[in-house]
Amino acid sequence: MVCEILSVGTELLMGQVANTDAQYISQRLTSVGITVYRHTVVGDNAGRLDEALETALLRSDMVITTGGLGPTEDDLTKETVAQHFSLKLVEDAGSLENLMAFQKRIGRPITQNNFKQALIPEGSIVMPNRVGTAPGCIIEKDNKTVAVLPGPPSEMKDMFENCLFPYLQKKSGQTLVSRYLHIFGIGESTIETQLQDLFHLGSPTLALYCSTAECTARISVMCALGEDPAPILDPVENEIRRRLGNAVYAEGLYEDLPGTVLKMLKAQGKTVSFAESCTGGMLSSSIVDLSGASEVFSESYITYSNDAKRRLLGVREETLLFSGAVSRACAQEMAYGTRKNSGSDYALSITGIAGPDGGTAEKPVGLVYIGLADREGAYAHEFRFHGNRTNIRTASVKHALNLLRLTLINKA
Ligand code: ATP
Ligand code: MG
Repeated sequence: MVCEILSVGTELLMGQVANTDAQYISQRLTSVGITVYRHTVVGDNAGRLDEALETALLRSDMVITTGGLGPTEDDLTKETVAQHFSLKLVEDAGSLENLMAFQKRIGRPITQNNFKQALIPEGSIVMPNRVGTAPGCIIEKDNKTVAVLPGPPSEMKDMFENCLFPYLQKKSGQTLVSRYLHIFGIGESTIETQLQDLFHLGSPTLALYCSTAECTARISVMCALGEDPAPILDPVENEIRRRLGNAVYAEGLYEDLPGTVLKMLKAQGKTVSFAESCTGGMLSSSIVDLSGASEVFSESYITYSNDAKRRLLGVREETLLFSGAVSRACAQEMAYGTRKNSGSDYALSITGIAGPDGGTAEKPVGLVYIGLADREGAYAHEFRFHGNRTNIRTASVKHALNLLRLTLINKA
């Protein structure tokens, strides 16, 4: 099925509002196997809208319109679509009731032009608006389908997800099933090289998305509704896991490193504490963001100054004097002191130069030491990150969590 999106609104043409509705709908249509060939934008003008509709329907099986369902005179999408198919506009009782209740709830009077919003083209499928006043509709005629959606993104999304998407899914009989594998510790180009042949399988498709210090591989297959995707997805997932080993840390769209580490600590009944210098609490926050943090997180020290590192964590004067606050020895002592103070099973420490100032030839911006202490002792690793201050601090937090993750894998 081929579809076009026809967005209506002079504000879009004038560049005041970006056409995020079309972007959203396109993304979602892909996941039911509907091909989008064109996005068109027209202003609030009946003639040009009708012309665009006519052209789009010549090329495509389906047209989805957004915008122009409001009560004012310049809102004329429904009228134009109805006229195009020679359909009368009739009042929809349910929509009128919903509209009246909505206006009452927000304390707005009902004006004459509101009634126009409850009109829908005769014989069309009504899509109720649960967020605003104007209903949408689906018209099926002459083997073509036109779906009319409101412009405000919150109304459009709600209606799309609750009415149009299920309708389209049924119509296309297909759905895109995806698995997301999160990868840490291997660069984008290395992953691409290691998985090269798997990008050309045809089905399933493999795509790689990268963010600071990590990547996500998406494996997708188009399935008939009710079909089991496992026989197609399993072999590729298993092969990726075999090639990348421990670098694959989680599966699932919403998984991340803090959540993964939290789960591992919980499963092993272990606790953790942190000492942070250049990350100033980001590491602690990444864990405290998650519900259930209290089961594994004990305490955290933000020791930004040398004095704080010495006073709170027992970092030695000689270490600060001869090696400096950004050094392997300092990170090691920070982790050791934190574990000793807190009594937790593990302690992580971070000390580094986040920039943009403060770097030297010997200790450049991006130089970060991450320490880990457990009951057997403490050690620290050196890292050299790049990017701006946020990138360096984010990478530091993720690498610290990953260090703990790898330790927990070995102890499991
Ligand atoms: P209303 O009842 O608010 O008039 P409507 O369905 O008539 O709703 P429009 O008048 O076309 O919608 O647009 C209302 C607002 O919704 C616009 O000012 C804009 O902020 C937003 N909007 C409209 N179309 C889009 C779009 N394609 N992408 C993103 N935002 C949009
Ligand atoms: Mg409007």
